[in-house]
Amino acid sequence: MTIKVLGYAAHSPTASLVPYRFERRDPRADDVTIAIIYCGVCHSDLHTTHNDWGNTQYPVVPGHEIIGRVTAVGAKVTRFKVGDTVGVGCLVDSCQDCEPCEHGLEQYCKGAVLTYSAIDPKDGRVTKGGYSQAVVVNEKFVLHIPNGLDLKGAAPLLCAGITTYSPLRHWGVKQGSNVAVTGLGGLGHMGLKLAKAMGAEVTLFTRSPGKEKDALRLGADTVVLSSKPDEMKAVAGTFDLIIDTVPYVHDLNPYIPTLKVDGTLVLVGYLGPLDNALNTAPLVLERKAVAGSLIGGLPETQEMLDFCGEHGITADVEVIRMDAINEAYVRMRKSDVKYRFVIDMASLKD
Ligand code: NAP
Ligand code: ZN
Repeated sequence: MTIKVLGYAAHSPTASLVPYRFERRDPRADDVTIAIIYCGVCHSDLHTTHNDWGNTQYPVVPGHEIIGRVTAVGAKVTRFKVGDTVGVGCLVDSCQDCEPCEHGLEQYCKGAVLTYSAIDPKDGRVTKGGYSQAVVVNEKFVLHIPNGLDLKGAAPLLCAGITTYSPLRHWGVKQGSNVAVTGLGGLGHMGLKLAKAMGAEVTLFTRSPGKEKDALRLGADTVVLSSKPDEMKAVAGTFDLIIDTVPYVHDLNPYIPTLKVDGTLVLVGYLGPLDNALNTAPLVLERKAVAGSLIGGLPETQEMLDFCGEHGITADVEVIRMDAINEAYVRMRKSDVKYRFVIDMASLKD
């Protein structure tokens, strides 16, 4: 039996999000059906809604920071039962057969199916995300939410949390590491909290004067205004790792000198060509690297949730009604959110 749901969708790159009725697929034997309680609002939702990456399938129902309760499980589901509190992030399927999948790196599988605006090869339908009442997901792509975590603050862990946790782990951040995060938004504030919890010395690079106090509260030891050359100079040769969350094209050259020998700047925000050519000299001369990183695989996402459960880490959120989403997009574009909007799905009524 298909499940009829109400959601919010955009029908073109320039259209506002509006109420939209659609059907979820018939749950399969290995599917979990989830009533959505909260859904975080990621800058990727905005990029996809506006077709910034040129591959949006309209109508698009965004949302990949999903927290909900299990309302039904298929006959073959073993890891979940009705009533469990669960999460769904950016992925809802993958081939399960390739090298990345074998290593729990489903995000790098060529057959990975994103939670929204992707064609599901199993039925040819376009996936629809968490700005909706319910979702049907293969149990392999459903996550356990640790007891005791505030659910609205836990929603952004499913994307902002794992996207910053994964590079921190991959590049071996530990007690005493020196880490910088560029941009204090949804991803950036999670980066500060997680790096601090891993024992790192943490710096925020921001273009916004006025964020210092919050940054220190969120885990930064130092705040550097990236527009001030003297402040940038003062941190030359400091960082083992920089996680750059800035969503739009920007010049990377001023950040490279702030890396130590062997340091790495990891891009997680902007996807595309750079306006300013990257000067390779400091990379060659000091074995520095510029790299990228995409969300995280399923095992690492569960590890991150458990880490957040142990350390009591959640996002700082502003809860909104579903019908406030268009205003939230405008505010997010202006960085006017502290530090993640989360939609209360109870506000979405027939
Ligand atoms: P966000 O909440 O809007 O935060 C972005 C931050 O970047 C802003 O708060 C701002 O911080 C800084 N910024 C610098 N220049 C900016 C500009 N021209 N416009 C807007 N912000 C600017 O965004 P988010 O949800 O953290 O997402 C950040 C980026 O990561 C997006 O591009 C998103 O698509 C991407 N993303 C990637 C992955 C992945 O797997 N790699 C996963 C999720 C999201 P300051 O004011 O402190 O400078
Ligand atoms: Zn996201």
